[in-house]
Amino acid sequence: MTLRQSGSPQETGISIPCVDIADFHGRSRPDACPGALQVHAAADGGLARVRVPGGRLTPDRLRELAEAARLHGDGALELTSRANVQVRGLAPDEEHGFAARMARAGLLPSTTHERIRNILASPLTGLDGPGGGGIADVTPLIGELDRRLCARPALAALPGRFMFALDDGRGDVAGLGADATVVFVAPDRVALLLAGTDTGLRVGADTAVTALLAAAEAFLDELAARDVTAWRISELPDGPVLVADRVLTALTARVTPFEPVRPRPVALGPVGLVGDSARVALGVAVPLGRLTSDQARLLAGLASGGEIRLTPWRGAVLPRLAPAEAADAAGRLRAAGLVVDPASPWIGVTACAGRPGCAKSLADVRADATAVVALAPPSRRPYGTDTLPVHWAGCARRCGRPRGRVADVVATGHGYHLELDGTGLTCSGIEETAAAVTAARGEL
Ligand code: SF4
Repeated sequence: MTLRQSGSPQETGISIPCVDIADFHGRSRPDACPGALQVHAAADGGLARVRVPGGRLTPDRLRELAEAARLHGDGALELTSRANVQVRGLAPDEEHGFAARMARAGLLPSTTHERIRNILASPLTGLDGPGGGGIADVTPLIGELDRRLCARPALAALPGRFMFALDDGRGDVAGLGADATVVFVAPDRVALLLAGTDTGLRVGADTAVTALLAAAEAFLDELAARDVTAWRISELPDGPVLVADRVLTALTARVTPFEPVRPRPVALGPVGLVGDSARVALGVAVPLGRLTSDQARLLAGLASGGEIRLTPWRGAVLPRLAPAEAADAAGRLRAAGLVVDPASPWIGVTACAGRPGCAKSLADVRADATAVVALAPPSRRPYGTDTLPVHWAGCARRCGRPRGRVADVVATGHGYHLELDGTGLTCSGIEETAAAVTAARGEL
C-alpha cells in the first residue's frame, strides 16, 4: 500500500491524497454488517445491531432497548464506535421478536435502509454554549439526513459500513473515519470531507445534507462505473477524488481557494460535568461499552433533559441537567458501575468482543481488561484528552481499535503482547500485563 497524490488541481479543482491499493480489485462479497433484521451468527448467539442516528435516544427508547436485551438477548447493550447499539446472545427464535420490538419502538423506521443509517454527530453540539467548541448546532441535520437517506430507494444499496458524520466545528467526529462528513467552518457554512480528507467544497448549511447524499450517490455511481464491490470510499483507488468530482458535477459547484480542514482522530469522549450554566451536561463512560439493562434503565430515568446521547467513544451524555440533578445523577451512576470521573483508569480502555463472543479469540479480553483496570494505581492526574488509549484484542485483527495513537494489548494464547509506537513487550500474566499497561500510560 502506498500513499500518493492523485488528481491534479488543474484536472479536478481539488487536491486530495489518496490511498493507492495496488492489488484492490474490489471486494468479493457485499458487506455482512448486522442489523436488527440481518442478525449475525456469533459464537455466543445472534448479534443484532440497531442504528441510532447521531446517538440520539429518548428515555423511552433506551428503556425499550434495555427490555429487549433482557427479554431476547444476554441482558446487556453494547455501545459501538458508531454510537449504535448491539445486542448479543439472541436465540434464533428470539430474532423476530427482537426486530418487532425495535420496530414498535420506532428504532427500525426502514426495513430497506436500516443498516445504512450510520450517522455520527458531535455529542455536545448545542449544549456547551459560546466558546464551548462548536460553531453551530448539528441537531436538526441528524433528523433531516436520516429522513432523506431513507427516502431514496437507490441508497439502500450502500454498504452497511458506509458512514456519515456531522461535525459542529469542534473537530470531534470529523476525524473518526466517516466516508462523508460535513464540518461547520462558519455558522452558516460547511466543508465536505470524503474519507477524512477535505474536498475543498464549501456549501451553505442548508445544503449540507444534500452534499452528503450526493456523496453517497456518487460513491455508488463510481462502483457501478468500475463494476467493483467496495465498502468504503477509501478502499477505491482515487476514490475520494473521483467521488468528489461527481459531487461537484451533481451540485453544479466548483472549488475556490480554501483553508483545508485537517481532522484529527479523537480517542476519548466527554466524561464528567460539561458546562457551568443553569443547565449542564453529564458525560458518562461505559466500561468496555457494555451497558447492563439495569444501568440503561437508570440512565433513562436520570435523563430529565429528555434525551440520552450515545457517543462514538462508547459512552453517553445526559444533556440539560440542573447542576444539583447532575451531581445526584453522577453519584447514582457511579454506584451502578458507570464512570463519571475523568480520572478513572477506565478512561480510554476499549476491547473487542473476545471470548466467548468471538470464536477467533485467544482470551476473554474483557475479563482480563477489567482485572488490569482493577490493578491500576490511583491516577496522579485526571485522564484527559492526552491520555493514551488502550485497546485489548483477542487476536491480531484488533477489531474495534480506535483511530490514532493507541497501546494495543493483543492476546497470544499464552498471555498478551503490548505494542506501542512500533515496539512490543510480551507479558505472561495479568500482573505483568497490568504493569506494562500502567507504564505505557505514563502513570509510573
Ligand atoms: S479482534 Fe479477533 S478475537 Fe477480537 S473480535 Fe476481532 S476477530 Fe474476534
